[in-house]
Amino acid sequence: MTYRNILEKIRLAFPQPVSDTIHDSYFVHSMMRALDQVDALKTHLPFLGSIIHGDFDAAKQTKLPDTMSSVEAVTKDLVSYLEGMTIFGHPRTQQNVIAPTTIPSLIGVLLTSLHNPNLAWDEFSRLVALAEVEVVAMTSQLIGYDTEQASGVFTFGGTGTTLYGVKIGLEKACPETMQKGTSEDAVVFVSDTGHYCAANITGWLGIGTNNLITIPTTPENEIDLKQLEEKLRNALTNGKRIACIIATLGTTDAFGLDNLKSIVDLRDTLVDEFELDYQPHIHADAVIGWAWSVFNDYDFEQNPLGFRPRTIRAIAGACRRIRHLSLADSVGIDFHKTGFAPYISSLILVKNQTDLDLLKRTPEQMPYLYHFGQYRPGMFTLETSRAGTGPLAALANLKLFGEEGLRAILGHIVEMTQLLREHLEGHEGTTVLNRGNFGTVTLFRAYPVGVDTFEIKRQEFEDVTYRDSLIVHNAYNREIFEYVNSEAMEGRGVFISTTDCYRKTAYGEPIVALKSFILSPFVDEEDVKTVVAKVLEAREAIS
Ligand SMILES: *Cc1c(COP(=O)(O)O)cnc(C)c1O
Repeated sequence: MTYRNILEKIRLAFPQPVSDTIHDSYFVHSMMRALDQVDALKTHLPFLGSIIHGDFDAAKQTKLPDTMSSVEAVTKDLVSYLEGMTIFGHPRTQQNVIAPTTIPSLIGVLLTSLHNPNLAWDEFSRLVALAEVEVVAMTSQLIGYDTEQASGVFTFGGTGTTLYGVKIGLEKACPETMQKGTSEDAVVFVSDTGHYCAANITGWLGIGTNNLITIPTTPENEIDLKQLEEKLRNALTNGKRIACIIATLGTTDAFGLDNLKSIVDLRDTLVDEFELDYQPHIHADAVIGWAWSVFNDYDFEQNPLGFRPRTIRAIAGACRRIRHLSLADSVGIDFHKTGFAPYISSLILVKNQTDLDLLKRTPEQMPYLYHFGQYRPGMFTLETSRAGTGPLAALANLKLFGEEGLRAILGHIVEMTQLLREHLEGHEGTTVLNRGNFGTVTLFRAYPVGVDTFEIKRQEFEDVTYRDSLIVHNAYNREIFEYVNSEAMEGRGVFISTTDCYRKTAYGEPIVALKSFILSPFVDEEDVKTVVAKVLEAREAIS
């Protein structure tokens, strides 16, 4: 076969550059066939097909095929890789902060992938660049930033958003780090229930994980303000420079919300008192919590959407902290978490767009780019090529839901979470650990018959003489978890999750917890009741 014959097949495998509706039908049909094959993997269970454990050694031997394949064969092959995938939208999975994705957000990803805009520069992305600016505007407004002043870009994940926050703060505290390298005096603060990406970031930025100061949290999983103040004062007294204070608004495991307002007040006091020549940067890691902003101006008294009183209280409890997001100098937002968009769709917002100038390279460093056009984020972003998928998926969902839809979907999953807690608290054998946190994640523990669950939680948490009891019950809850999930595997019940250390006790021992993360609009009352029933059944089965 000459290359010309092969080229013909190759051309068929591309969308056509000029209108060819017959070929479009072929394209759509190919997608349809893929969807049909995925559909054939659906059962009543919350995963596709059956769970197969991949042979990673065999995978290492994979070789490039000698000859060409076809769209049909490759599609079939690709679909096979979805076997065993959790269906995150399934009502019988409450496992993690992984969102089911909407049809418009998927179309957003498809359209951008189809025409491959590069957001480095509007010259390469045209109006898709405008979409990014529109999402920045909508989201800024949502959290309460002045849209004239604020700016932002999509980046490579929630981790990327915090990286931007810390890097900007580093440049403020230690000017020209970009040119001179990182000062040994830079320190970063985060709570001990904040995300571990802070360690990654300080490591990668050259600040060093030894200069990441972790502050203990209160039983509500909020940063302990007294200890934060003490450690900040210590650092300043010792001549350290504060590159960033990371406030977490929505911790991953418990939905703890740091008191941002007090942190900002504290920062301002210290700037005056120590006569600092810079303002320590405050970054809000709100990758999970941002979405609650849609309730900032909800009429909780009138409650037009008809949520139950407990739900209203939970939403108001979260908004009490979330409504101050605009006090942060930068905010991280994940649309791929509480925005129901596919990975990766993460946005870093800065309150003052001039902060982004701290990251700029000079045009001489990039001679082949950015000669004209109106929008050139590639001059300061860490990435060079940046996909349009994230912004278009986010835009799709913001337009699809609007404020009303986001309120309804979040309100519903909060309502289901509250219902779960009500049921867990209705039994003497189970106890909710993060009662003071108002998100859609519930951490709970089960105890064997005969244990006083009214006392045990506090005792195990505070009293070191309960260390052995805590350890025994840690193992007990792992067993409960195994039971519940093996039942779910058989189609009886709901998949839940577990965490090895939702937090540490006052005496430093990790607390194992069962975890329900509700993020699917398909979860309903019956599914929530099933979780409780299965935990109680496990209690019978393993005692
Ligand atoms: C998930 C998460 C991150 C990391 O975000 P990725 O999008 O996974 O990179 C950071 N902070 C918090 C609080 C998170 O929950």
